[in-house]
Amino acid sequence: SYKEQLSIAGRFLTENDHFLVLNHVSPDGDATGSLLAMGHLLQTLGKTFTLANEGQTPRKLLFLPLSESILDLSTQELPPFSTVIALDCGDFKRIGDASRFIMENAQILNIDHHPTNDFFGTVNIVQTEACSTAEILFDLVKQMDIPLTEELAKPLYMGFLTDTGGFRYSNTTAEVMSKAAELLSCGVSPSDMAERCLETISKTYVQLLRLVLETIDVSFSGKVATLSATLDTIKEVDADSDDLDGLVNYARNIEGVEVGILFKEKDENTIKVSLRSKHQVDVGKIAKELGGGGHVRAAGCTINASLKEAKQMIYEILKQAMGEHDEHSN
Ligand code: 5GP
Ligand code: MN
Ligand code: MN
Repeated sequence: SYKEQLSIAGRFLTENDHFLVLNHVSPDGDATGSLLAMGHLLQTLGKTFTLANEGQTPRKLLFLPLSESILDLSTQELPPFSTVIALDCGDFKRIGDASRFIMENAQILNIDHHPTNDFFGTVNIVQTEACSTAEILFDLVKQMDIPLTEELAKPLYMGFLTDTGGFRYSNTTAEVMSKAAELLSCGVSPSDMAERCLETISKTYVQLLRLVLETIDVSFSGKVATLSATLDTIKEVDADSDDLDGLVNYARNIEGVEVGILFKEKDENTIKVSLRSKHQVDVGKIAKELGGGGHVRAAGCTINASLKEAKQMIYEILKQAMGEHDEHSN
């Protein structure tokens, strides 16, 4: 059961020491929030640990305590670790370049909420009903009887807030709201958190948005909308990965659209695809077919092809998915 899994995870933390705590490449609010919450948890237990990932911590999260200690392993080196905690990673590949510091026979605690999780850990706590990895850590903190301090509550709240799209997506349950309420009672300011992470946009983001919106391509009788951020555009406005976050929602949110897609050109032959759906299409399944993964309503993958080819590949798979969707709605 989930409770038993949580006590196994608790034992993993109390019985080991000298942890390497990792999340996924290009970390988001849940990945970084969970990483920081785990840091505070381990601190409370008196353990030594290193927090790291491949990629920079999103700028808007740098106000959170401990965030300055997160190492970006795309540029930094470390000695290898034999005890590892992976957070918000659906598969081992999601750890990216940071995995080069994991010893071959390392013990890995895998804590995640993606339905596409492949149980790559030695111990796997995969709770797909959780709105975020942060929610699983909330449950773990409760199970271990660790006091919920403001320092711990803040990064947990950040995970809840970002992975539920500001408590709007279908993963926002009554339980999520009551746990969020408990986090607020620890001193978290909901307006401060929302302003920092959801409301504030950079000038670069606005410039990028202007150019990316021009690329809109609506197909499948108005049910699919795609946007593209080409390398030229990204260079023109000098955008980083923080600036690209959230753009895909403009495609998904259009009236009548079921699937919204953003193609980000990393280089001539590498396209990062973000997929979002509204009600019917399982985009996690589509992303998985292309070597990626994610949730039913939000998923992603990286395709090694040109932008034009990647788009064709996605359209081919969509033909089938959209066909199935039509049958169900009849
Ligand atoms: P995003 O489109 O914001 O990058 O990702 C949306 C969701 O899909 C997130 O839950 C993320 O963890 C998952 N995801 C994105 N890209 C990949 C990928 O390449 N592999 C896997 N397994 N999951 C991904
Ligand atoms: Mn994530
Ligand atoms: Mn998550």
